Amino acid sequence: MRTPAPRVTGLETEFAILCAPTGRQSCDAPPPPDIEAAAALLFRHRPAGYRSNNLFLPNGGRLYLDVGSHPEYATAECLAVRDLVAQDQAGKAILATMATSAEEDLRSRGLSARLHLLANNTDSAGHTYGCHESYSVPRDLDEGAVLPVLAAFLATRPLLVGSGTPLAGPAEGGQQDRAGADHADQEDEDLAWALSPRAPHLRALTSADTTGQRALINTRDEPHADPARLRRLHVTCADTTIAEPTTGLRSALTLALLDALEAGQDFSDLVLADPLEVLAALGASSWGQEPVRTRDGRLLSAVDIQESFLERILAFVQRHDPPAALEGAGHLLSDLAPRVITALRRRDISGIDTEIDWAIKRRLLRAQRERHGGLGGEALAVLRSRIDLAYHDLHPQTGLAGRLEAQGAMARLCSPQERQRAQTEPPATRAQLRGAFIQACLDRGADFSVTWEGLRLDSPPTTPVDLPDPLRVQDPGAESLIGKVRSLRPEQMRQIDLVGRGGLGAPG
Ligand code: ATP
Ligand code: MG
Ligand code: MG
Repeated sequence: MRTPAPRVTGLETEFAILCAPTGRQSCDAPPPPDIEAAAALLFRHRPAGYRSNNLFLPNGGRLYLDVGSHPEYATAECLAVRDLVAQDQAGKAILATMATSAEEDLRSRGLSARLHLLANNTDSAGHTYGCHESYSVPRDLDEGAVLPVLAAFLATRPLLVGSGTPLAGPAEGGQQDRAGADHADQEDEDLAWALSPRAPHLRALTSADTTGQRALINTRDEPHADPARLRRLHVTCADTTIAEPTTGLRSALTLALLDALEAGQDFSDLVLADPLEVLAALGASSWGQEPVRTRDGRLLSAVDIQESFLERILAFVQRHDPPAALEGAGHLLSDLAPRVITALRRRDISGIDTEIDWAIKRRLLRAQRERHGGLGGEALAVLRSRIDLAYHDLHPQTGLAGRLEAQGAMARLCSPQERQRAQTEPPATRAQLRGAFIQACLDRGADFSVTWEGLRLDSPPTTPVDLPDPLRVQDPGAESLIGKVRSLRPEQMRQIDLVGRGGLGAPG
């Protein structure tokens, strides 16, 4: 067995944006901006010093306006799960601050409105947007051999880290007349509930296109690193998660599985006959106990598959030195993940309903249904989808996450200090060089262009510095460039800005 090298991981989240007027408006108030205008307004309130809507930030992350007017935040590449979660939260905080400034801007023009940013996966018009994970893997990893295993793992992973979703079940006027029902009944609740909102939208195992055919894995070969040595495994099937332990568990599981695969651990008996069918079923399943067929013809349940993965991953982690990736997050694998399996088997969320999104959301829906006892039909359906939306809403007044965390009803992985620091400080990867360079350029007002793997000073024009190793935190070329920026005099920077600050060369 070969010992796997440390790897980096990053998380991209696309947000939906929506502007909703509040209260009574003055008669000369402007109309509320549509989605496109709201996104443009949001980006007018981007952090100071940038000129385009494609920003690499001093924390090493990237903030940009994606196609379809979806703001997207891509974390810097991280070594540790805990850093990844902190960086992900930092992105949400930066966007929420921009949204607050945009609301003040609207108010100053006579429009009182809320600008909602939704970290969910689908809107009411049926558009989907994603949460993508990236993992660096060696170029020589035998993809043909690992792909079926990865597919089985990813197809059943929403059992542990799905964000959960209310369905239009019988209580909402489906097969039975439930109008007037006055108590929550587990079977009805099960029928009106599924583990993953994104699962039914995935149509392929792999695809080179992220927007057309939604796949488990995107195969476009963009390693953002030395292509001779590294690949980037780009996983595009996750639900967008909110609770830190859920986000952390997803990465911890996947990182540990990749280590085990790279070391040659055998998972071939867990390969599924039809992973996409299994995943689609999780878009309608409440406990994941439906039968699934393995490639070797056995009939198991999705929970059995995920439990076997977990047992082998845990055994692998315990046999090896604790990987840097799991520092301060090992309990997610050893303690939280087994509790999720138990919850699924016992059909009882009480042991995980502050840590795992689908369970937290399910508890909230149940509580609301009990509180509004007599509600049925359309009214109940509206209430359920409102709670679902509020769960994913970043807005400080209408979003639920902040309140749930403050009440202890949503657990954290990172301290408030870690999250705060992550807004300005990069994780311990080459992102530190990127962040220091960007901060120096912003401080001096110098024009610059940055990609994941390169730094370039544009005013005055300078030879770019390549950073092909994502784990390398020191680089003489980058350090000398940063030193040069710090000592720039204003007259050296008066160049014609052709490219926009921070915008050139960012991967599309
Ligand atoms: P798209 O614009 O279509 O979303 P993309 O996924 O290539 O394209 P980004 O949104 O810029 O581009 O996100 C890149 C992600 O890859 C980030 O989360 C980043 O942390 C991560 N990343 C950067 N370098 C590496 C690397 N060498 N290996 C794995 N992941 C990386
Ligand atoms: Mg992206
Ligand atoms: Mg991407």
